[in-house]
Amino acid sequence: MSQCPKCSGQQLVAGCLGPASKPPIFRPGGLRSFSVTQDAGTKFATAEAVACLDCGLVWTDLPAMKLRQFVQRHCRDSGLVELSQCLNCHSNRVARGKIITEHRGVALPAVFDPSGRQAFTFTLGGTRFTSEAMACLDCGFAWTSTSSEKLRRFIQKHCDQTPGNAVAFEGVKPSSGWKEMWIGGIGVALIPVGYGIYCLYTGHAYFPRRHGPVMDLQGWEAVVLAVAYIAFGAFLHFQFFWGRHPRLRPWSPRLKKAALLVGACGIGYALLRRIF
Ligand SMILES: [Zn+2]
Ligand SMILES: [Zn+2]
Repeated sequence: MSQCPKCSGQQLVAGCLGPASKPPIFRPGGLRSFSVTQDAGTKFATAEAVACLDCGLVWTDLPAMKLRQFVQRHCRDSGLVELSQCLNCHSNRVARGKIITEHRGVALPAVFDPSGRQAFTFTLGGTRFTSEAMACLDCGFAWTSTSSEKLRRFIQKHCDQTPGNAVAFEGVKPSSGWKEMWIGGIGVALIPVGYGIYCLYTGHAYFPRRHGPVMDLQGWEAVVLAVAYIAFGAFLHFQFFWGRHPRLRPWSPRLKKAALLVGACGIGYALLRRIF
């Protein structure tokens, strides 16, 4: 779909409702009190969703069949809104509800999380929904709304420009990503590098084991593992610092590969050593 089904706007951005690995759930309103269900709703096929930067509509698709069954089995009729029309197929059989995500067993209201969110940005998540969620029993089209202004600002502040969210950056410069560069490329990268140097200095390198005490390598074996730790830090540095530096960027992929190769050899050696 390349335009908004509500306002026909074409400023669309891609995103997720909750973590990509765990699709959210549409929980219809009017759930019967004593109905026993496992999911308490219909699971979306994917967490991916689209939002319109003009009117704030957020939409995605539900398995219509499953939603129908769920509503018939577990809901009172009052959950259906006769007055609303599906924005996609204009059917009148629309259920109101909530979109929730499950996080460690706790159900939380979903938010729209635009694509390209930076790894070291300080925010609790995307933009909240400002309206009830609706879902069409005939075509499975599910929609809700968020504040388009807040969404635009969120993307400009916390996201890298990607093909999925490029329209939000029209007329503004994408953020420089200094947090990624300095926190990821220097701060976080220094942890394995520092630890690797410490291993070289003490002549002992530790490697976690699934069961039992950690493995303590010594001598040249310790050097192998220490170099692997340093290579891992170097990988982070090339990824986040070089990858964002205007002049260093062209070198980033090759150096990353080299660091990864060195690191993988060292870790591979330690893994083999763990077995034999
Ligand atoms: Zn729209
Ligand atoms: Zn529909």
